[in-house]
Amino acid sequence: MLSRARQCVRAHRNIWLAVAGAALGGTIWATHFIAMLAYSIPVSYQLFETGASILVAIGISCLATFALVGVPGLSGAGISGCLVGLAIAAMHTIGLSAIGNSALVEGRMDTFIAAWAIGGAFSLIAMQVASGQVTITRLVFTALLVVSAVCSHHLISMSGLRVVPLDSGPQNGLTLIDRIGIAAAVCVVASLLIAAGVAAVFFDRYLTDVKGLANATFEAIVLTRCGRVIHANEKFLAMVGKPLPAIKALNLEDILSQTKAGMGFVKAPDRLIPVEIVEGAIEYQGRETSFFGLRDISERLEAHERLDHLASHDPLTGLLNRRAFNARAEDALCLAEAETSPAALLTMDLDRFKAVNDLHGHAEGDLVLQEVAKVLSSSFDSPALIGRMGGDEFTVLLPGKYDDQAQEAAACFLSRFKTVFASHPNAAALGVSVGIAAFPAHGSSLTHLQHNADAALYRAKARGRGRIYAFDRFLDQQMRERRRLEDELRRAIQMDEFFLLYQPIVDALSGQPVGYEALLRWQHPTYGVLAPAVFIEAAEESGSIIEIGAWVLQRACRQAAGWAENVFVAVNVSPRQLLLPDLPEHVAAALMASGLSASRLELELTETSLLEDRVEVGQSLQSLKALGVRLAMDDYGSGYSSMTNLRRYPFDTLKIDRSYVAALGRDPVAGVVIECAVALARGLGLTVVVEGIETEEQRTLISPWAPDLMQGFLFGRPETLINEAAAHDFCFTRSRSV
Ligand code: C2E
Ligand code: MG
Ligand code: MG
Repeated sequence: MLSRARQCVRAHRNIWLAVAGAALGGTIWATHFIAMLAYSIPVSYQLFETGASILVAIGISCLATFALVGVPGLSGAGISGCLVGLAIAAMHTIGLSAIGNSALVEGRMDTFIAAWAIGGAFSLIAMQVASGQVTITRLVFTALLVVSAVCSHHLISMSGLRVVPLDSGPQNGLTLIDRIGIAAAVCVVASLLIAAGVAAVFFDRYLTDVKGLANATFEAIVLTRCGRVIHANEKFLAMVGKPLPAIKALNLEDILSQTKAGMGFVKAPDRLIPVEIVEGAIEYQGRETSFFGLRDISERLEAHERLDHLASHDPLTGLLNRRAFNARAEDALCLAEAETSPAALLTMDLDRFKAVNDLHGHAEGDLVLQEVAKVLSSSFDSPALIGRMGGDEFTVLLPGKYDDQAQEAAACFLSRFKTVFASHPNAAALGVSVGIAAFPAHGSSLTHLQHNADAALYRAKARGRGRIYAFDRFLDQQMRERRRLEDELRRAIQMDEFFLLYQPIVDALSGQPVGYEALLRWQHPTYGVLAPAVFIEAAEESGSIIEIGAWVLQRACRQAAGWAENVFVAVNVSPRQLLLPDLPEHVAAALMASGLSASRLELELTETSLLEDRVEVGQSLQSLKALGVRLAMDDYGSGYSSMTNLRRYPFDTLKIDRSYVAALGRDPVAGVVIECAVALARGLGLTVVVEGIETEEQRTLISPWAPDLMQGFLFGRPETLINEAAAHDFCFTRSRSV
């Protein structure tokens, strides 16, 4: 009991010390009385003194136990030992006085003092032993010492005592027979007292531990019978923020609402706490009881929400990302279809955003995107879905809006955008273009709708930036034609409807063809022969150009292999082809298959191929160069005309765009450009070709700048080479005749 008192929480300690004191007092009292009964003296006992003796024994013993645990160190054990000695002595004295009416008791002082001293000494040692950690040995020793203290005090004191029974017979005390009765009573009372104490230890340990276990779980636990709360653990009480008495007998539904299987909400005073619920039945207090284990899942739900948000939103702008936008837009369109309500899709991208990034850096670019996201969010209210599809592309789905309403909304957005960015320090030139497609008129699926909104956006940009363009019949018609063209292109490859024409490239001085440029033609079953201008763009966009380009390369190499040794073939390569990582291998294979030597093949690239400034493109060009193939920059002057590109990549030839030749005589700048381009090529050690010479006059005008080679209708139109072996003579003759 003492060890329990030492271990348990403060609130329970005093109870344990009192219980221990009672057990000790009971022990002292019982030991004394049973020993007294061993003397077969016909005495009787006064009820009052007998009762007082046990109370005194218990009272002082309690003080002793409090001192033992309450006062730290040796002094605690000392005080406690003295008190035990006192308890024994006091009990003994009062106990003796209980027979005062039935016998004459005379004591001797020396034995009296010896009894006090020896009994006290045993008590001191007993408490000393009891003050340490409880072990079985200590327990046994303490018990022996306490009994020794009681017995020594009792026997020594009794040895000096003279008891002369007064033969007054039984009088308001107890008779001899009663003495056996009292012996039994003493045994029973004392044993019960001690047993109750010991039992309390075990029950308390068991109950406290079980309760502790119930409180130690992660789960809040509540027990109900007939739907009413009968018990709950601390977790549950903390959750509902009320003490047990306040919720006892309440209906469970008043505190806990179950939503779906295994889930629900606990009604806390300030909020609803989402919980996971495990239900069961147990036996409690001997009756069947419902049991609910509840686990607070608010943190888990928050984490889920956070993860979900991260997975579905663009981290920079906080708008929906492409995947999430598409998923939600699909759902919204399904709903619109079911309700036969309209919807509109807006796609937009920023004009000149690349310039902002290039001029002010990516950090500024990011700020601009965030600002745009803010303007978007403030311009389109729920249920609009706003997503960032990547880069500077944004898209908005407006459920329930017809396309004229969508145009109005877009116009509002545009004016707000202008206001915000007019005052923006670094991005004053920034604009946004919007394309709109309506559901279901312009597409019954999201992909179709997006495609058409993109087409409208493309048109908006083409008309001048910062505009809104809604998809219409005209655009629809164009899109259909484009799609048909793409389908036909795919078929054309299979049907072998392509063929090549060759246009001579002549030496500027002699006018002799030194090579031929392969130019693609399509023998269309309905429209006849089509020039690349009609279909190349569609082939590039649909990707057919890759297959077509491979075919051109193989065919040109094979045909050129039959020409005179000193005549080269020039083949146009599209930007899409240049992005293919295995282009050098394709070229090598075409050369190998045809037997054409690499030095007789020139690949013509346009500047758009080099725009993306990809590392792969540079590597590809180097590998092609390594094969021995020559590289020409085609249509120089029509695009960016970057000198950096000319220096960075291993070009051999510069072809000046034919528009300059066409402008000669009309536009003085044209001549200057040709002159400068020729000089630049010279400086870089490149061969110069002037394209598009149609008249003798143009040739005369150009001659003073002395380009290396010339190309144009004057020297020969693109023609089929009928006799491949005689290509040289054939074209030479024609060029002369023109
Ligand atoms: P390009 O590479 O600049 O080819 C020269 C174009 O100018 C040819 O048009 C040719 O017919 C035209 N041309 C030549 N001399 C004159 C002239 O004196 N006056 C005028 N007005 N035009 C002249 P074509 O064959 O219609 O080809 C146009 C463009 O299509 C080519 O421009 C080239 O970029 C592309 N292309 C042609 N064949 C292929 C090919 O096989 N693959 C790829 N990717 N593109 C090709
Ligand atoms: Mg060309
Ligand atoms: Mg050209």
